[in-house]
Formats: sequence, C-alpha cells, structure tokens
Amino acid sequence: MIVVREKKEIRQNVDRWKKQGLKVGFVPTMGFFHKGHLSLMKKSLKMSDRTVVSIFVNPTQFGPNEDFDKYPRDIERDIKLAEETGVHAVFIPTVKEMYSGNSKTWVTVEDLSKNLCGKSRPGHFKGVATVVAKLFNIVQPDVAIFGQKDFQQLCIIKQMVKDLDFPIQIVGAPIYREKDGLAMSSRNAYLTDEERHSATCLFKALKMAKDLIDRDEVERAKDLFSIIKSFIETFPFTKIDYIFIGDPESLEPVDELKKPLLIALAVYLGKTRLIDNILIN
Ligand code: AMP
Repeated sequence: MIVVREKKEIRQNVDRWKKQGLKVGFVPTMGFFHKGHLSLMKKSLKMSDRTVVSIFVNPTQFGPNEDFDKYPRDIERDIKLAEETGVHAVFIPTVKEMYSGNSKTWVTVEDLSKNLCGKSRPGHFKGVATVVAKLFNIVQPDVAIFGQKDFQQLCIIKQMVKDLDFPIQIVGAPIYREKDGLAMSSRNAYLTDEERHSATCLFKALKMAKDLIDRDEVERAKDLFSIIKSFIETFPFTKIDYIFIGDPESLEPVDELKKPLLIALAVYLGKTRLIDNILIN
C-alpha cells in the first residue's frame, strides 16, 4: 500500500492504473477508522481493481462551534488498518494541500441540503459537497462508496454527480452497527459509559417506529413523531436535535406514513451529537 500526501502523486498513481485498464474505487473518510469504514473499503475492493482511501478532516464542513479541533485522529492506526484490509493507496492531504487559502468556489446542492442535518448544521453540506467534488477531481475514481449512515450526504453526492456530470458511479453501503444496534461512528469515542448505554436509544427508536409502521399501528407522521420523542426522552443524557419522517428521495417531511419512508434522527448524548436512520420500504 502506498501512502500519499500530495494531490499530484495520487493523480499519477491513478493515471498509471487507469492506463493499465484497472478500475479504481474510492472511499473518502475523515479517518479514525471503525468497522463501518472498513466495510466500505471491502465493498470497494470487491467492485474495483484498485482502492484509494482518503483521510481528511475537512475544516469547511465544521461549524464554528463544532468539534473540528477535537475530532478523533489516529493516522498511524488508520494506515495499518487500511493496509490490513487490502487497500492500495491512502491519500492523506494537509489542509494547505487541499485549500490554497484563497478558495472562492463552492458547491451547493439545493433543496436536499435544506432539512435534517442541513438545518442544524448550516453550511455543513456546502463543505461536504465541495470537498467531495475536489477529491473526485483529484483522485478521478470510477466508483466511490459512501455509507447509508449519512443518508442525506449520500443523496446530496448522488445529486451532485448527476448535476455536474462526474463520470463516477456512486454506491451506498449499509450501516454497520455494534452488537446492541448503535451505529458505528468515530464520534462514539467521545461517549462516557453512561452516555454509551443511553446511545442505544437511536436504533431502538428506529426499530420501534418500523414495527409500528409495518403493523399499521400508526398513520400520521405527527403521531409517530410524538411516540419517538417520548421514547428517546426516557433515556438519560439525551437531547433531541431532530426527528425527520419523510420522503427518502426529496428529503421533504410527510404527513401521511406512506412507504418508502425515511426516518432519521440526530440526538445529543451529553455533548456528543449522534445520527442514525432507517429506510422503510
Ligand atoms: P466519516 O469518516 O465519518 O466521514 O465517514 C466516512 C464514510 O464512512 C462515509 O461515507 C460514512 O457514511 C461512512 N460510515 C460512517 N459510519 C458508518 C457505519 N457505521 N456504517 C457504514 N458506513 C459508515
């Protein structure tokens, strides 16, 4: 596995692979790997001949009062895990390598960035879409893998690729969970033991919602909203950021619970904000 820090160098390697007729897969990440990240790498390895993983904690997708500075980082461990997984190249640019300090161009994906995390994290998806567009231009992969854990991000990237004609196939990968259902996340490392215990409420709430819908026991979104809200509030250290019940394509809320339906949650456990979602077909 090669470890590359410059744009020029990753481009040269990918160029060489493409000239050999090899298909290139790409997994963009912010590092501090868990099994969710590794499952994306394995999917890319299956779908392509060469896999590039980027590790970049992107400052432009963090708000001023968010956790950019304290976001967990362990590059040496990440490099080892990527190598053990079979990845061919890890691209680890600095902030200076990615942003000249004089950027004036941003990618905004309208409408899809409006609700869910877009509402509570203004500017977040502008930072995400811009950095992913830059990484796509730098790496020039044939296929890129994104987790369904960040459902809104996946929708936004798919839309961006379509609108801006990137010749890249976007593939979604299922949410990888701990045994008790908690979605794996680098931010889980922030949780105290008590918060970690309560953090199971997200998946439990989503499963309960799915069961109620599958059994036709609830018809209106506002009733389901109240049930989920009361359920989560029974868990200590929780503060709900949002409960979204809506259309998985438009990401607009609905009144009537008709399938396909996306239920997405953002909940604070103490100071740590966790997200999770379920797609009900
Ligand atoms: P991050 O490093 O958090 O920016 O995540 C990098 C990629 O891994 C994104 O496409 C995420 O959606 C994906 N990802 C994060 N957590 C999980 C998980 N538990 N299961 C599957 N994919 C995940």
